Amino acid sequence: MSDTIISRCEAKGLRMTEQRRIIAGVLQQSADHPDVEELYARALAQDPGISIATVYRTVKLFEEAGILDKLEFGDGRARYEDAEREHHDHLIDMNSGEVIEFVDAEIEALQEKIAAKLGYKLKGHKLELYGVPMKKVK
Ligand SMILES: [Zn+2]
Repeated sequence: MSDTIISRCEAKGLRMTEQRRIIAGVLQQSADHPDVEELYARALAQDPGISIATVYRTVKLFEEAGILDKLEFGDGRARYEDAEREHHDHLIDMNSGEVIEFVDAEIEALQEKIAAKLGYKLKGHKLELYGVPMKKVK
């Protein structure tokens, strides 16, 4: 990635207060898919004065600016990740809630083929798989 979340916020003309910078920094360092409460806990470690309402408003602002992607994995919690991350899809473990990232060349090619068959050039997609771990066969 060539630029940071903070630099993209600045490029979009968002006013970057100290607390917004902290939240942007926390997002930058998050390789997972945190929800607002998780982001709040991480931001709190850097600024005890930060409120969950500020975190909530800030991620909404970043999302509306196209800096973050909002993800919904069917449990009612909105999660966020950097919109500029390399394309990948998600598999959600329905028992543990763990989110596994994957990229599959066959799926990518198949989706392009389907879009083309329908007369479209594919510009993007979202794919979420939901599953439970298979029982190990001995
Ligand atoms: Zn992801």
